[in-house]
Amino acid sequence: MPSVPSSSPDPTGGIRLPVSAPDAEGEVVELCRDLLRFESVNRGNGDGHERPIAEYVAAKLAEVGIEPTILESEPGRTSVVARIEGTDPSRAPLLIHGHLDVVPADASQWRVSPFSGEEVDGCLWGRGAVDMKDMDAMTLAVVRDLARSGRKPPRDLVVAFLADEEAGGVLGARWLVEHHPDLFADCTEAIGEVGGFSYTVSDDLRLYLIETAEKGLGWMKLTASGRAGHGSMISEDNAVTALCEAVARLGRHEFPLVLTPTVRVFLNELGEALGVEFDLDDLQATVSKLGPVARMIGATLRNTVNPTQLQAGEKVNVIPGEATAYVDGRYLPGQEEEFVRQLDEILGPDIRREWVVHDDAVETGFDGALVEAMGASLRAEDPIARAVPYMLSGGTDAKSFSRLGIRCFGFSPLLLPADLDFSGMFHGVDERVPVESLRFGVRVLDRFLRAC
Ligand SMILES: [Zn+2]
Repeated sequence: MPSVPSSSPDPTGGIRLPVSAPDAEGEVVELCRDLLRFESVNRGNGDGHERPIAEYVAAKLAEVGIEPTILESEPGRTSVVARIEGTDPSRAPLLIHGHLDVVPADASQWRVSPFSGEEVDGCLWGRGAVDMKDMDAMTLAVVRDLARSGRKPPRDLVVAFLADEEAGGVLGARWLVEHHPDLFADCTEAIGEVGGFSYTVSDDLRLYLIETAEKGLGWMKLTASGRAGHGSMISEDNAVTALCEAVARLGRHEFPLVLTPTVRVFLNELGEALGVEFDLDDLQATVSKLGPVARMIGATLRNTVNPTQLQAGEKVNVIPGEATAYVDGRYLPGQEEEFVRQLDEILGPDIRREWVVHDDAVETGFDGALVEAMGASLRAEDPIARAVPYMLSGGTDAKSFSRLGIRCFGFSPLLLPADLDFSGMFHGVDERVPVESLRFGVRVLDRFLRAC
């Protein structure tokens, strides 16, 4: 790995620097590899353990004189927050957030061990390589370089490395926002995951998708009640039948198309880039021709539901008195009330519906100096870059930080090979990130933080 010798005087006031301090681009791969080797798996039942990886991050910050604050919502569920002073204290800080947990990985399906951080074919492999230890490593590398070199960003930075995002952030971002809002309260803008990655259109145009909106989350439990009884008798009030009918109606339902401001801008930009005229009457068909991004974009055109779990009965000849189903519902920004109305109309009065997880949709405009800085820093490293806003159909910790009035953007810059199935990497088998993409990301992030 290349390392650039540092001969500058110690900027950290007494902290001993290594004889040869690598710059951000030089150490990002090593940092990412280290992070991938922590099995910070979050299975979503409260058994996550971010403590070891959080301690590693805190040590890497402290090593260069950045004072980390370690916070635990529950034993082992650890987040790290630090503040880096900028040159202009009158400006509101920028928040940079990343999560330290990952979803599980079944090693038997992988080409390399998912917690080895191995480098194969120019990529670092491992669970979290794109979601999102890549950005954690890039952030660490850039702020460490800032501290070592004594450079100050134009405004204060708040960096947050968080627990529990993969279970909705209840013990991470949401807990911090509710119990320690003072750490972020003066931040006006934030950058985080699932944005800033490239989509190569042609030899002279590469779109970089900046996340400016997220769908809301409505995970629901449906219950049908009927008359319990013997399976051999006539039953006109069977809970299983009623539930299945309702679930099938819901699962087959196509919700109407709604163009939100973010998606409208995105489709205009994409249409222009591809030389495609988007026919609003046949938008789904046009979107389905977009190849790798089609699945992602299709889900941002309308509210969606997917039935995922069914439960009823204990024995084949016993009609149960109750049957339940779980459904993953997602609604567009501004569509929450309408979504609820649609659900109740489709389900009818006999099915009981309750939220099991319910979270906000968020949306911010694609304008302002920070957005300009994103575009400029991308173009400086990739002359054919064009930044465009898009909506994420899933959710991130941005939902929590938005509650503090912070404008949230997904901006974790990566220049990706055109043939890499990037969206398939998230929670997928053989998750990996090209090392050149990491180095590119560090260069863009460094420029961005100098201009933010
Ligand atoms: Zn993530």
